[in-house]
Amino acid sequence: MARGEKIFGVLTVVAGAIAGIAEIVSVLANRRRTDLGCDWTCDNCGEDLNEQHGFSAGSTWTCRKCGYSNDVSENNIIHPRLVEDEYGHTMEVIDYPASGDYEDPEDY
Ligand SMILES: [Zn+2]
Repeated sequence: MARGEKIFGVLTVVAGAIAGIAEIVSVLANRRRTDLGCDWTCDNCGEDLNEQHGFSAGSTWTCRKCGYSNDVSENNIIHPRLVEDEYGHTMEVIDYPASGDYEDPEDY
């Protein structure tokens, strides 16, 4: 039954990978309101603009904390890279410029 055991083992690994991807997708889906699917931070003070009341991306947004006018148009979006993992799945990876804390978005 070694063959069966091996298949079971592979399925377990694949299930784990799918669960991980599903978690990432759900995080991204929660952000796709009026933010073009992006995290926006103030260029001046670094405040999380997505959390500001009434925020809408697409043109410009004046930071409610410091008053700086931010470019929140499509021109300013960092596009995700498509990468293939070791199981041949394609997934999006977003490179955040400074913080690199994508795994823990609450930790600002
Ligand atoms: Zn600001």
